[in-house]
Amino acid sequence: LLANLGYGSRKEMQLAIRNGWVTDKAGNALKVDSRVDHEDLLFDDEPLDPAQGVVLLMNKPLGYTCSTKDQGRLVYDLLPDRFRMRKPVLSTIGRLDKETSGALLFTDDGTFLHKVISPKSNVPKIYDVVLDRPLKGDEAGIFASGEMMLESEEKPLKPALLDIVDETHARLTLHEGRYHQVRRMFASVGNHVNELKRSAIGGLGLDCVEEGSWQVLSDARKAQIF
Ligand code: URA
Repeated sequence: LLANLGYGSRKEMQLAIRNGWVTDKAGNALKVDSRVDHEDLLFDDEPLDPAQGVVLLMNKPLGYTCSTKDQGRLVYDLLPDRFRMRKPVLSTIGRLDKETSGALLFTDDGTFLHKVISPKSNVPKIYDVVLDRPLKGDEAGIFASGEMMLESEEKPLKPALLDIVDETHARLTLHEGRYHQVRRMFASVGNHVNELKRSAIGGLGLDCVEEGSWQVLSDARKAQIF
């Protein structure tokens, strides 16, 4: 279990147990014949990470790539090293561009991942956008039409909701995730996105997750997505 959670190799974990670094909540060192529930185990006095089925919400900063092996800064660099070694692996649910910040989910649970991205679930993604030029006034109608075509694509975009905050600030709600979708939508109406942040996935907002940090989602927080 400890090796699968990425705390170290099986050999290292045998040593950790022998050294008494793995304990129950009362501080009793784990023994070969101990029976302790996962939730009651501590490694180096810290509760163990959740077992399989974990979902993390990160508030992604600008400048980090959603990849496991690109050059430069990766979103995985913001997680403890052991999260990279977990089995099954932890992957992002969808992606954000390097220069987009905000809500990014990770999971090791394939069924949950597919539920979030499945068109059947129709989970809205909400983006706060800062624009280079003032809005002209016709954008909301074009985005909502269900007929908008992006260059080199064959299917029109699903209707999207544009809430205008002021002439260069807006909130856009999408029900799909095409490549660079928000930036391309505004480019095709003659504007340019200067800043982009995903502020929510379904009803799951970034409340209490500081930029660059992350939290394990409780079942109640997970349910807010749908
Ligand atoms: N749309 C974009 O253009 N970029 C993102 O990162 C997400 C949506």
